[in-house]
Amino acid sequence: MIAIYPGSFDPVTLGHVDIIKRALSLTDVLIVAVLKNSSKNALFTVEERISHLELLTKDMPNVKVDSFSGLLVDFAQKHNAKFIIRGLRALTDFEFEFQMALTNRELNSDIETILIPTSLQYLYISSRVVKEVAHFGGDISTMVHPAIYDDVKKKTEQS
Ligand code: ADP
Repeated sequence: MIAIYPGSFDPVTLGHVDIIKRALSLTDVLIVAVLKNSSKNALFTVEERISHLELLTKDMPNVKVDSFSGLLVDFAQKHNAKFIIRGLRALTDFEFEFQMALTNRELNSDIETILIPTSLQYLYISSRVVKEVAHFGGDISTMVHPAIYDDVKKKTEQS
């Protein structure tokens, strides 16, 4: 079975890594797919985000990292993926994720969305919060993996 975990991952947080690890118990292969979205003001390029994700998943042979643009269901179908994985932090996520799940089902009813609730210690973590805290010199060591810590710090200080 193949599942896709799509997102911006700008940058990838410990919350994302937790969802990746937990999704691996549900699927044989997990494709982490970075959205190429030119309208979003990104801190890291898609290539940089892919290399962060590859670094953090190098010991997970069942994880592949890729990027996509256009409709997620088309990308999923092209890769024979049956499931879309998304993470849920709070009720505020739920409304958006639920709408996306119903939209994707409308577009392709063969592909099912699985919403995985966050682990409690990652509840407050988002890429946006990481960027804001790092920009103002705050400690982000509880939010991002040590392997990308310096990179995130350096880039946010320049921004
Ligand atoms: P997007 O811009 O598509 O929301 P993100 O990179 O922000 O992409 O998030 C990708 C997915 O990971 C989303 O489903 C989001 O809800 C989930 N996610 C983000 N942060 C966390 C976290 N701390 N715990 C669990 N899930 C999370």
